[in-house]
Amino acid sequence: MRKEDITENLNRVRERIVTACAESGRDPQSVTLLAVSKTRPAGDLRVACAAGQRDFGENYLQEALEKQAQLSDLPIVWHFIGPLQSNKTRAVAEHFDWMHSVDRLKIAQRLSAQRPAGLAPLNICLQVNIDAEQSKSGAPPAEVAALAQAVAALPNLRLRGLMAIPAPRPDPALQCQPFERMAALLQDLREQLPEQPLDTLSMGMSADMAAAIAGGATIVRIGTDIFGARQ
Ligand SMILES: *Cc1c(COP(=O)(O)O)cnc(C)c1O
Repeated sequence: MRKEDITENLNRVRERIVTACAESGRDPQSVTLLAVSKTRPAGDLRVACAAGQRDFGENYLQEALEKQAQLSDLPIVWHFIGPLQSNKTRAVAEHFDWMHSVDRLKIAQRLSAQRPAGLAPLNICLQVNIDAEQSKSGAPPAEVAALAQAVAALPNLRLRGLMAIPAPRPDPALQCQPFERMAALLQDLREQLPEQPLDTLSMGMSADMAAAIAGGATIVRIGTDIFGARQ
């Protein structure tokens, strides 16, 4: 994509975040824009980074590692947001700052055991299957509290909050409902685990960003609206 287009798109998304925050009485600083760069060439990330973007989300491990090697001169905060097989946890533990898609204890145990001693704890969000969709990633809402208890006890992780990808709702009036349920789930966790830094709701994509912000998102994950439609 053209450099000017990425920069302009990024500015437009930033403005939409400011507007959505104003509409729900929130401080725009309380929402972090995560640029979802799966399938995009490293050059597109470099352009976004030059325009002030720091946080990037990747779904595919091998692709992400290649881009990280090409962009190692940049101050990027790397987030892994895709499904992960348990035999691939080591590279995430070694090369990322955040992992948003933990939905079972085995993954968390391996990430903790494999996190290098010299690095800060890996920031973790538990992925919730908030619309109870068949064959979708994420822990069932009823199992989140037990999973959070167990993850919070692991030494090299920092449990930060919850992540979800709700079922698509083309009608914006219906988009808020899953986000409100996510906010309530996080509030329950805060009460159950008062000593944890549970400050994160990772939710909202290009099609439902404003509703997610209204529902309390602190990280919005935006791909298409920054980098254009994926092939
Ligand atoms: C691809 C992806 C996004 C970004 O989606 P867009 O609709 O392109 O903004 C966000 N979160 C996850 C987990 C994704 O896989």
